[in-house]
Amino acid sequence: MLPNILFPKIKETIEDITKKYPKRPEWLVVTRIAPSPTWFVHIWNVYSAMLDDIFAHKDNWIAFLRIEDTDQKREVEWARFKINEIFKTFWLVFDEGPIWPDNTDIWAYWPYTQSKREYLYKVFAKHLLEMWFAYPCFMTEEEINEVRQNQTIWKQVPWIYGGYSIWRNAKEEDVIKALEEKKEFVIRFKSPGKIGDRVIISDLVKWDVETNDNFLDIVLIKKWGLPTYHFAHLVDDYLMQTTHVFRSDEWYASQPLHEQLFKVFGFQAPKYVHYAPLIKLDNWNKRKLSKRKDMEADVEYYFKLGYPIIAIIDYLANIINAWYEDWRKENKTKSFKEFDFKIEKMSQAGALVDMEKLDFVSKEYIATLEVDELYNLFVSWASKYDSELLKLVNKYPDYTKQALNIERELENPPKRFQKMSDIPAQLNFFFDEVYDKLDINLTELIPNLKLDEIKVFLNNYIAWFNLNQSKDEWFAELKEIASKSGFALNNKEFVEWTHVWKIWDAAMILRVVLCGQRNTPDLYETMQVMWRERVEKRIHNI
Ligand code: GLU
Repeated sequence: MLPNILFPKIKETIEDITKKYPKRPEWLVVTRIAPSPTWFVHIWNVYSAMLDDIFAHKDNWIAFLRIEDTDQKREVEWARFKINEIFKTFWLVFDEGPIWPDNTDIWAYWPYTQSKREYLYKVFAKHLLEMWFAYPCFMTEEEINEVRQNQTIWKQVPWIYGGYSIWRNAKEEDVIKALEEKKEFVIRFKSPGKIGDRVIISDLVKWDVETNDNFLDIVLIKKWGLPTYHFAHLVDDYLMQTTHVFRSDEWYASQPLHEQLFKVFGFQAPKYVHYAPLIKLDNWNKRKLSKRKDMEADVEYYFKLGYPIIAIIDYLANIINAWYEDWRKENKTKSFKEFDFKIEKMSQAGALVDMEKLDFVSKEYIATLEVDELYNLFVSWASKYDSELLKLVNKYPDYTKQALNIERELENPPKRFQKMSDIPAQLNFFFDEVYDKLDINLTELIPNLKLDEIKVFLNNYIAWFNLNQSKDEWFAELKEIASKSGFALNNKEFVEWTHVWKIWDAAMILRVVLCGQRNTPDLYETMQVMWRERVEKRIHNI
């Protein structure tokens, strides 16, 4: 009677529901990625989706996408769209799931969004109530806290279970009375486990481990009608016939509970693969990458800095299996999906997020690009993050490409860019539209020289310089002019100096005058790209 009072609208049984979903073939391995649409898309989501995608598709398994939005307090409406967009950006494609923008589902196990499955969870909760494996619990926050405090004093596990649960064995009339008084309630699991029970759980990364079985009466359905993660996991992965659950280590401790739930229903539990979380070194302490504290948890952070997608993928793939890096060196043009990833070789300890490593991987990748590819990558980055520079880059594509290509043709080119956001500082000044607005303060930028010295050098330089020379010739002449400028000042001490290292100062003067900054690309090549006219104009204008 109580189940009907609690869920009067639920008429169907779990058998009725099960029949509605086609049985998947026995041999099919089914995995899923189940992100929660909260706030921003975590790099971890991409990492887990990559794992699903990789393992599912290498052996013709399938992987579906499910949106776990039962924690509506933490949910952000647009996050689900972002998730889809970002997965697409990383070429992660799912065989089933909600598709946007109209949020309709593909394939038969719909809906793939948990907030639309409230009815289904209730059918399953009602079933458990009928089997006496669940009960409504009307405990208030204060009552729960009081129980926990007492348990802490008596050194008991602080939770609701066994004799500590006021409503576990309540009389039906008390429940009805509480309902009539409109008291808020949750549905709790009536765990068959007892303190001290042991169970063996298996995991494809961690193998078999004996541990404490669950004895807690955890919440299945929250006050407002949606399920907890634990219950939704049971219902969804049963109905959607998931065979392999890939998920973060943080859920490993709940595996005994989950297996117990599956057992109570008489269902076969899926195989579990718990993998180590992404961690970060914080003052030499390792901790989980935090959505709240760490900028690098947000995928957008990597986009904003302009790491190429392939570089991010390569970096994450290195985390999955360390020898990916060697494979990548040998297979520069292959897709990461062709690498033979091994589940059992994944790190159990936690994968360290190391931005220096990402910089390295990204720099190496950018160095392999043709200049046209680099240009296109930069244009797509600038179209989101640097609209001013974008205009110029679009207006002068050839000039931009030449500027981007500086030093890239050398035998051992220095790898100039780690990411797209490194480029503007090395490109902006090439354009007169930017340069002409610069306020170049020579004595501030070259504090070791006097303005007179600088001018003498520049006058000499402009009379002599010739861009048709080879780099060596050009350099010899720069040295010569620098020393001549020293003579012009008629300062003996200065002349000697000039021969030894004044050449460095001379180059610095040119860098600052031509580019407005001390840090520039190779000076000879920069001048070649700018052409004589622009070089002369910039020197004259000083
Ligand atoms: N929504 C859960 C999370 O984001 C999914 C865990 C799972 O894959 O089962 O942690």
